[in-house]
Amino acid sequence: MKNAIFRTLFALVVATSASAQSSLDSALMRLKEGNKRFVEGKSIHPRQDISRIKETAKGQKPFAIIIGCSDSRVPNEIIFDQGLGDLFIVRTAGQVSTYASWGSVEFAEEVLGAKLIVVLGHTACGAVAAAVNVPKVPGHIVTLINAIKPAAERVKGMAGDAVENAVKENVRMQVEQLRALEPVLAERARKGEVRIVGAVYNLATGAVEWLPETDTAKK
Ligand SMILES: [Zn+2]
Repeated sequence: MKNAIFRTLFALVVATSASAQSSLDSALMRLKEGNKRFVEGKSIHPRQDISRIKETAKGQKPFAIIIGCSDSRVPNEIIFDQGLGDLFIVRTAGQVSTYASWGSVEFAEEVLGAKLIVVLGHTACGAVAAAVNVPKVPGHIVTLINAIKPAAERVKGMAGDAVENAVKENVRMQVEQLRALEPVLAERARKGEVRIVGAVYNLATGAVEWLPETDTAKK
């Protein structure tokens, strides 16, 4: 009897976990398909009409969280061909995150239920270029540069373009940072309840390149 109950419970846990994974897969697929439409000039501009305004006025349930750069050439809803209430977006130059950004991400994950988190860098990012070239910068810009410098240091001497290498490394480090962010995201990532992925948007083509996932918690 005990064994039967255990087996039922185990099956339930496996089923729940499998359905969580499949909804994460489909969230990622929605972004990939939307970007494909955008690149091919076949955007459908979904969920941007009056009825969607009325529907989302009652509440929001975004299916993904994007942590992206403030760059005016990377408007997230447009490049992923999504609509109102689809994406919860946190944007700072170089997608540098500190407490307010982390709190925003945790809010979207815990309260609004978005489980896919995308760190989205982009080619020729000015903030990353500044960190690579270490110029003297005025005011609070130094906060951004200091946060990106470790990525620029890590790829120093690597073959290829220094800025583009640093763009990718910056995204990778930001993904790692979120996966290790206690107490909320780290636990969710360990349990495989959230997926945190990195990507780089190409300013010249409009295409999003998805970086390989190295999340050990991912099923
Ligand atoms: Zn940028």
